Amino acid sequence: MNREFAAALEEWYDVNGRDLPWRHTRNPYLIWVSEIILQQTRVAQGMDYYRRFVERFPDFGQLAAASEVEVMRMWQGLGYYSRARHLHAAARMMAQAGCFPSTYAGVRALPGVGDYTAAAICSIAYGLPYAVLDGNVFRVLARHFLIDEPIDTTRGRKVFRAMADEMLDTSSPGLYNQAIMDFGALQCVPGVPDCLRCPLCDTCMALRHGRVRQLPVKERSVRVRNRYLTYFYVRDAKGRVYLRRRPEGDIWQGLYELYGTVADQPCSLDEAATLFPGCRLTCCTSRLKHQLTHQTLYADCYLVEGYAGSLPEEGEWVPENGLDSYPMPRLMERLLETVSPAGGLGKMKKRDV
Ligand code: SF4
Repeated sequence: MNREFAAALEEWYDVNGRDLPWRHTRNPYLIWVSEIILQQTRVAQGMDYYRRFVERFPDFGQLAAASEVEVMRMWQGLGYYSRARHLHAAARMMAQAGCFPSTYAGVRALPGVGDYTAAAICSIAYGLPYAVLDGNVFRVLARHFLIDEPIDTTRGRKVFRAMADEMLDTSSPGLYNQAIMDFGALQCVPGVPDCLRCPLCDTCMALRHGRVRQLPVKERSVRVRNRYLTYFYVRDAKGRVYLRRRPEGDIWQGLYELYGTVADQPCSLDEAATLFPGCRLTCCTSRLKHQLTHQTLYADCYLVEGYAGSLPEEGEWVPENGLDSYPMPRLMERLLETVSPAGGLGKMKKRDV
C-alpha cells in the first residue's frame, strides 16, 4: 500500500465524494443491486431506477418471488437487459440458499458478477481486501504512476491488477475503492482534467512529464458498425398488432418488439413492400438512432394496414391498446412513441420506467 496515495484519495473523497443512496448502507443486497445498475449506466440515470427497484424489491426474497416480466418492466429503459435477468436468477439462488453469499468466491459466482463487481460488493459490504479495477481506476493509476502498458491486453491487465492490489488500503478497502472510483469519475476525468486543483498534482508522474492526455493507452480502438433495423407496425382487420419476443442469446433477450428485419443497409419502401404483397405501406417515423457499445443502430418503421397473411409463429397478435403492458427495449419504446398519431399510436401511454 502507498499510504500517501491512499490518504490523499480518501481525504479528497471525504470532501468531494458523491452522496449516493447506496452509500448509506452495508447491506450486500442493496450494494449488489446498485453495482449491477452502474455496470453500464451513468449514476445520474441509475439513481431513480435504483430507488424504484429496491422499493419494489427490498430484499432478495421479494426479487426471487417476482415474475420475469415484472423484473424486466422495472428495468425497462436501462438497456443491457441481461443484467436484470442475472439479478433475478441470482436472487432465486440466494432464496434457495437462504442468504446472500458472504465470501468473495460466493459473490463472484453469482450470475452477472465479474471481478470488479465482486470486489466492490465484498469491500464495501464486508470490508474484505479486494481492489476494484475499472475504467476510472485504470485512468488514475496509468496517469499517476505513468504506466504505458495498454489496458486492453492480457499483459497490461496483469500489470494494472498488480498495481491496484498493491495500492489498496487494506485497513479500509471499501472506503479506498469508493474513493478511487469517484476520483476517476469526477477529478481525473478522461480528456483534460483540472490537474492544477488536484490533490495528487505534486506526485502525479503523467503531469510531470506532460503525458496526461495520452494515458491510459489502448492497443485496439473499437470499430463501431452501423446496422439498419426496419420494423413493421402490422395491424390486422381486428385492430391487433403483431408483436414478437426477442430470442435467447440476443441483446434484448426476452423483450418484445414489432416484426422487423436487420441489415447493413437501410431497407427502402419498395423493398419493404415485397414482404407484404397487396398491402399499403406507409413510413410512419423519422429514422431513430440508438447507440450500443459496438454498433450504431438506425431504425425505421412502416405501418402495414389490414394484413391478413401469416407471420412467424413465435409472435402473437395483441390488442393495440395493450402494447404498453409488454416490456420492450428503449429503442422500440421510442419508436412507438414517435409513430404518427394518424397511425393510431398517439394514444399510447408514455411509460415512466
Ligand atoms: S494531476 Fe491530473 S492526471 Fe494526475 S491524478 Fe491529478 S487529475 Fe489525474
